[in-house]
Amino acid sequence: MTSNNTIRLEGPVAIVGGEEHPHASRRLRAAFPHIEWFASSRAAVPANVPVVTLQTNPDRVEGSFTLQIDAPQGTPSVTIDGGPFSGAIYGAEELIQKQSTVTDSGLDLPIGSIEQAPGLTYRTFWNWDHSTNWDLNQIGVQEIGVMNPYAKPAEGFLSDFKRVVDYMSMNRIAAIAIYGFFRESHGGIEAAQELCRYANERGVRILPGVAINAYGGVVWEMDHPYNLTTWLRKHPELSAQMERPPGFQLQDLAFDLYFPDAAYAMRGCPSRSENQQWMADGIAWLAETCEVGGINIEAGDYGVCGCSLCAARRAEREDARRREGYVESWSHADMADFYPRLYEAALSKRPNSWIYSEIQWDNLLDTEAMAPLRSLPEGGIYQHTFNRSYWNRAKRELTPGFAAGLPTRTNVFRCQFCCQWNGDNRTERYFFNGRDFHDMIKKAHETGFDGLTVWGEPSPYHTSTELSYNAFARFSWDPTLSWDDWLRNDAGPLMGGDEAARRYIELASTLDQHAQLERSVLDRIAGEALDAVRSSSGDVSRRWLWLADQATRRRYMSQ
Ligand SMILES: [Zn+2]
Repeated sequence: MTSNNTIRLEGPVAIVGGEEHPHASRRLRAAFPHIEWFASSRAAVPANVPVVTLQTNPDRVEGSFTLQIDAPQGTPSVTIDGGPFSGAIYGAEELIQKQSTVTDSGLDLPIGSIEQAPGLTYRTFWNWDHSTNWDLNQIGVQEIGVMNPYAKPAEGFLSDFKRVVDYMSMNRIAAIAIYGFFRESHGGIEAAQELCRYANERGVRILPGVAINAYGGVVWEMDHPYNLTTWLRKHPELSAQMERPPGFQLQDLAFDLYFPDAAYAMRGCPSRSENQQWMADGIAWLAETCEVGGINIEAGDYGVCGCSLCAARRAEREDARRREGYVESWSHADMADFYPRLYEAALSKRPNSWIYSEIQWDNLLDTEAMAPLRSLPEGGIYQHTFNRSYWNRAKRELTPGFAAGLPTRTNVFRCQFCCQWNGDNRTERYFFNGRDFHDMIKKAHETGFDGLTVWGEPSPYHTSTELSYNAFARFSWDPTLSWDDWLRNDAGPLMGGDEAARRYIELASTLDQHAQLERSVLDRIAGEALDAVRSSSGDVSRRWLWLADQATRRRYMSQ
């Protein structure tokens, strides 16, 4: 059935291309169960039966799509022509989430053509395994730390990360860096492989997190040849002679961080050729063993080897005083010496991988820090982290075209808020960060950066987190989107209208920005949230209940 400007899908509807696009097909079937979907080849579809065609077009950019809705000869037809990997899935999600109007017997779609492509190519989450908490029905939750044991049941890893992948797939978040990717205690190599398979089917790139001769090397916690502890126990002479006890501190965090003096903190000496080869071999092994979408490589941020070999190797290129007083706790010369080699090792086994190299934090505007990076390979993605104070400075000082002057070609911001690494004793982990994401994405877009990485550890059950993730996903997909349009078309439907969304953000931000609030203020916030709980239903009601809980918890603590 068609009208002048809509088509209706109802009764039997053919899906062509479902075999090559199992997830897009599965999502359509799950979203509209009252349609009699059946798989078919194009030639076998009867002339009067509506058809949805899923196809991948290698000439498009990754994730882009055209959604063509029409009714040639009066029979409804939908074609989703997607770019590689995720385009058909994103197109199906556009149809499901934004274009369809469900009717008693099927759904209506507006006739026309919708073409979309990502505004920023690199839209990435960055998570530790131990503090990623998306399955809320299990024990062992942790919220901070970088050298932690895993405390959940073994199944917890897949249970958490499959939920993250589902969310990313539905919201066009392209990739996720995962530290603690390999652990004996959460399924080891097999679970890691399973997660890659699951994510690939859903158009999400998995980027295991590794560190050069730090953080376990390639295999974080396991008796394995590419685990750093295993390696250094066998070759103790290759261990680093650390300049100071392992650790770092963050200026924007109100309390000191504690680092255990344990095997987790071991480092290899980066000047030893055996360690250099071992890292490259480990990266090649990783790219062969798991169907990864890329690898996230960092320099190691808890101090460096200060042996005479290392001092001599870095001498010309780097002033060791940069590391005094925890201003920096890494070496740019080490990055320059390792990143190209590891990039080659990964690409030789898995072309089309996204290889992120981290330039660590709060140094983007520092030309001396950037100088050793001229030798880094062009295809890599270089990730520059901002903490709160440095971001405030960068916001003022970064100018349009800034990225063009950097020694590295493809650059992204890494936003170290919406996480536990900034703020007072509560940290900003559960704060509403959508406005920051909006500002950073606009800035990245206008200054020539190609993406944004943010934390994705807390579950979107926390409504401020959900709104933050949604803002990240939407603005990074379309950096020209306005705040008001986001409130109207994205936040509004989650909260019961755009005015409700605006008010929710106002109340949540009041809680975020004031560690101390009068009880009367907390009572008012809780009361208003509870009124909204009662006057709404389903997920909207549940989102307001979260805010009521936040306010009453604060009220309880002030007694
Ligand atoms: Zn050394």
